[in-house]
Amino acid sequence: MTLKKYLLPLSSLAAVGCAASQQQQPNIIYVFPDQFRNQAMAFWNEPEFSSNVEWKADPVHTPNLDSFAKESVVLSHAMSNCPLSSPYRGIFLTGMYPERSGITLNCMAERPESSLREDAICISDVLSANGYSCGYIGKLHADFPTPNDPEHPGEYVSSRRPEWDAYTPPEKRHGFSYWYSYGTFDVHKEPHYWDTEGKRHDIKEYSVKHETDKAIEFLRNTSGQRNPEAPFFLALAYNPPHSPYESLDDCMEEDYNLYKDLSYKDLYVRANADTTLEKAPAARYYFANVTGVDREFGRLLDEVKRLGLDKNTIIVFTSDHGETMCSQGTSDPKNSIYTESFNVPFIVRYPGKLRPHVDRTLLSSIDIYPTLLSLAGLGDKIPESAEGRDLSGILLENGQECDAPESVLYIRNVNGEKDENGLVRGFFPVARGIKTATHTMEIAINRDKAISRVLLFNDLEDPYQMNNLDINENKELFDSLCVILSSKLEEANDIWFREKILK
Ligand code: CA
Repeated sequence: MTLKKYLLPLSSLAAVGCAASQQQQPNIIYVFPDQFRNQAMAFWNEPEFSSNVEWKADPVHTPNLDSFAKESVVLSHAMSNCPLSSPYRGIFLTGMYPERSGITLNCMAERPESSLREDAICISDVLSANGYSCGYIGKLHADFPTPNDPEHPGEYVSSRRPEWDAYTPPEKRHGFSYWYSYGTFDVHKEPHYWDTEGKRHDIKEYSVKHETDKAIEFLRNTSGQRNPEAPFFLALAYNPPHSPYESLDDCMEEDYNLYKDLSYKDLYVRANADTTLEKAPAARYYFANVTGVDREFGRLLDEVKRLGLDKNTIIVFTSDHGETMCSQGTSDPKNSIYTESFNVPFIVRYPGKLRPHVDRTLLSSIDIYPTLLSLAGLGDKIPESAEGRDLSGILLENGQECDAPESVLYIRNVNGEKDENGLVRGFFPVARGIKTATHTMEIAINRDKAISRVLLFNDLEDPYQMNNLDINENKELFDSLCVILSSKLEEANDIWFREKILK
């Protein structure tokens, strides 16, 4: 594994030109829109893809993702261990489960303890230490809200304490030397950002378009955003198709027009969707933002190619979690084990190294950190703190043998007790679960830590998870899944393991 970085084929070097000829290691572009469910990509209905999943794709228009998928390894069963914005970002950035990343709950003002650990070794710290120029564009949502005075960058103003949004000062950027980001803010056509120097930019433009423009500037290195002699790592975190999805203020009209005349019957193809929910009109705007993301992602890919960077760049398209969109009778888009929320896109392209195909490997978010470093030839630089598994051997055409994961751990935390100031202290681990190749199971507890609910689905026979199997009638199955869950909790040194909750 360690020698691979020195063995880049000559053809890839020639294609990236003279400046890149000294560059051995691949660039990495990691694109992760927020709340983009795996089902919202049209290619899943094409024969070469549909045989790997048991469900129908949404009626979406995603021509760029469809082409990209055919050049990539497409994981049909990538799961977000803790399908919620901030905890996912903590897992991705640190390679650690929420209890160790510091981010157990969504970061916001009433949760002072949920914030990215400053001493964590982030993937960007490792890449930066190994010669990469690292850039972050878009939504971070990994820090406790910290205000910044736009007129005096770096000087904090206490009267402007935001509830959700955050300014991330340079000392908390973990190796990212180019910065154009914010905490969390949900006005898609009036976004704002703080740049590398801490200056605030208020923009009147669709955020996905604007962030893609900034990403293209980073690729072109228009004003020294990166070291032109070094490989780069660019994280691009779009907010759409995250809510709001209620009106033309939330998406581009040209995209909305593709869906505006579709009936609920055409929009909602999943058998578990309840279109009587108040949320039902949202699908048209949600899918419009899916198409908006697709178009801008396509524009980014075109630029990568135009600059001759395509051959030596690993490009990942994924998301922090999915979107239930009226499935399962819930209006909560995320933070549940239902497949619409738990299953995310994971498409990775690395020409010459990854043979395009669809793969059913159960990928956990926790495995992304070591796998990505290893794909970049830095397998020997994965820190001890990383808790996931390096699955590059499964992805690489000539990769080392490695066992496919048997299951994925699911984590749901909620607020711990509040103190006298109304601030949340700690977290409560309300549910844990697993996904195997065949089943999904969740066990939830009440505040006395007694079991309050069990969900158990046969995902092959019941892909829309409409039949919650009775655990007494399926005792052998339930017991065997509990054994797997138990070992997974132990492997993750989860609070459920330490406090023997499953027993
Ligand atoms: Ca999110």
